[in-house]
Amino acid sequence: MQAYCVKCRKMVGIQGGKEVVVDTKRGKKKFMMGACPICGTKVSRVLGNA
Ligand SMILES: [Zn+2]
Repeated sequence: MQAYCVKCRKMVGIQGGKEVVVDTKRGKKKFMMGACPICGTKVSRVLGNA
């Protein structure tokens, strides 16, 4: 699973990723949250509606 890292400005593999459900204005959405393996910045990717 890959996500965009804003610091590295490229797609990176999500390290230590886990699924979380977040309440957004448009309803609950599932995200894969983890860290960038290069710089350690938090990265996330939308998986879909929860
Ligand atoms: Zn990074």
